[in-house]
Amino acid sequence: MNRESAVSAPLVIASQRPLAGQTVLVIEDEASIAELVRLYLTEAGARVLLAPEGEAGIAAFARERPDLVILDLMLPGVDGWDICRSIREIGETPILMLTALHTEDDRVRGFDLGADDYVTKPFSPRELVRRVRAILRRAAPGAPAVAASSSAPERLEFPGLVILPAFRRVEVGGQTAELTAKEFDLLVALASTPERVFTRQELFSQVWGFDYLGDTRTVDVHVGTLRKKIERDPANPDYIQTVRGVGYRFGATGGASESAGG
Ligand code: CA
Repeated sequence: MNRESAVSAPLVIASQRPLAGQTVLVIEDEASIAELVRLYLTEAGARVLLAPEGEAGIAAFARERPDLVILDLMLPGVDGWDICRSIREIGETPILMLTALHTEDDRVRGFDLGADDYVTKPFSPRELVRRVRAILRRAAPGAPAVAASSSAPERLEFPGLVILPAFRRVEVGGQTAELTAKEFDLLVALASTPERVFTRQELFSQVWGFDYLGDTRTVDVHVGTLRKKIERDPANPDYIQTVRGVGYRFGATGGASESAGG
């Protein structure tokens, strides 16, 4: 008699508990922050494990194989950087760094070590839940690949630069350049449509796969490290050009026009 509500009820609960069925390991030594994170994630449906220091964190990771790790960087004993390395040696479990370290160098280091996201303290717990959800959605089996998707061309060739999206390879002047996954996705996003101006927000949602949440520094940081790897002069870039006040554009001539005219 009450069949309809019995069927629809779990759907309502599912939407209110977007992290149902997910296990999140929180490695954090500040008890008040750990509790706050646990409260919000639990409310969103996740099973939350807390580890107050590095060794306990690594042990819990090996034992429980969580779906995602929230990692503080400044911890007693084994620090977050080393924990990140250890986890990456084991596999691709998503890592969100949650830290008071807020310089560009720290963020770059975090992403270079394979972090999937980087949130600085003080933080909004609601935003944190959204970010966790976005990372898990991308990590889900069958989730569409971001940026370098099937729509990407097989080969992008510019003066001095060759990009092979399917092989995730970039050659600069005939030499293979070592790009991180996000640097590569960013380059493909820009170079797939040369001369088109992309806003930071567009690049963020295309490369990171979730909505812009007010922090476009992530895009700038990656543009900076990418330029160092592919530009002859990173301070005066040929390929990835800044469009002041808007975002970025890929210059297809790669600076070759200067010498081509004769
Ligand atoms: Ca700490």
